[in-house]
Amino acid sequence: MPTIRQLSSNVVNKIAAGEVIERPASVVKELVENSVDSGATRIDVTIEQGGVELVRVTDNGCGIAADQLQLAVASHATSKIADADDLFRVGTLGFRGEALASIAEVSRLVLRSRPADCEAGAELEIVGGRAEPIRPVGCPAGTTIEIRQLFFNTPVRHKFMRTTQTEMGHITEAITRLALAAPHVHFSLTHGGRLVHDLPPVSNLRERIGSLFGAELADGLIEIESADEHGDQQIRLSGYVANPSHSRGNNRLQYLILNGRVIRDRSLQHALGEAYRGLLLTGRYPICFLNLELSPSLVDVNVHPTKLEVRFQDGGRIYSQLLGTLRSKFLSTDLVARGSFPG
Ligand code: ADP
Ligand code: MG
Repeated sequence: MPTIRQLSSNVVNKIAAGEVIERPASVVKELVENSVDSGATRIDVTIEQGGVELVRVTDNGCGIAADQLQLAVASHATSKIADADDLFRVGTLGFRGEALASIAEVSRLVLRSRPADCEAGAELEIVGGRAEPIRPVGCPAGTTIEIRQLFFNTPVRHKFMRTTQTEMGHITEAITRLALAAPHVHFSLTHGGRLVHDLPPVSNLRERIGSLFGAELADGLIEIESADEHGDQQIRLSGYVANPSHSRGNNRLQYLILNGRVIRDRSLQHALGEAYRGLLLTGRYPICFLNLELSPSLVDVNVHPTKLEVRFQDGGRIYSQLLGTLRSKFLSTDLVARGSFPG
């Protein structure tokens, strides 16, 4: 008979890391989400060799007290939820309490932090899941996390990493998504000592789109806005879509932000396609930056470990709202008269 045993926390963390940490860009996403959750107004990301050698994220957020550092990297330890009911009112990007534990298991991690009201900071180093004693350090208020040599102890995963350029493409896309969802935060991205992005804090999404994709694209966007009453709850849709004359050969410029998190939703992508039906040539895709705000109780974000996909309580209704809002906007914008219809 086979013997059943409880797995050690190291093995459990390695399994969790396999789910959440696919490549350096996943580390960037998890660390920056933590920085956004910490209330930071400035987040600096430094990368060496496509993130394989180094991912460093520095923020000016709330910091972590010295006596909590060890907990921050423990699995299933989080400051963001306390009980099961909280799962239905999650207002933060994180809540699973697994990212740092997973990353620490498959890298060399240094965590340095100081809450603004503490005089000294503290530093914790973990190598492949093994923690060194915490030591006091001098550091600015906020948190810096350095991840070196990702997957050094998981050769199979290490082998799957692609060229510096490919990994950097994924990292840039991760930063783009995070930056679109938090226009009020100053972001910078540096690779190999070269500044790739410097995104000053702005007051609205259109300005952030301009910093990321250029003023020409941003200025030509059509603004949309609608609200749908859902009992005593409201579903607010806002954002920007491109004139059909500005389409793309792929659907990569379609961003959907749900309560501060960029997600992917096939059904809403379909609604977008429907709204543009007859306005675009085949093989062309609309451009959009949409912001959906609704009560966390109307959506389950606990479906996917990386939270890329969510489940709406009433997806059909949001589908109709998106389609209806775009259709009436296109009618009132009179795209035909401007000669924007292709063919
Ligand atoms: P989660 O984000 O799901 O809570 P993580 O493993 O990503 O789980 O982080 C664990 C905890 O560590 C967080 O709940 C938070 O309290 C703390 N933490 C992580 N990063 C930061 C940061 N940059 N600033 C302040 N606290 C942080
Ligand atoms: Mg997190």
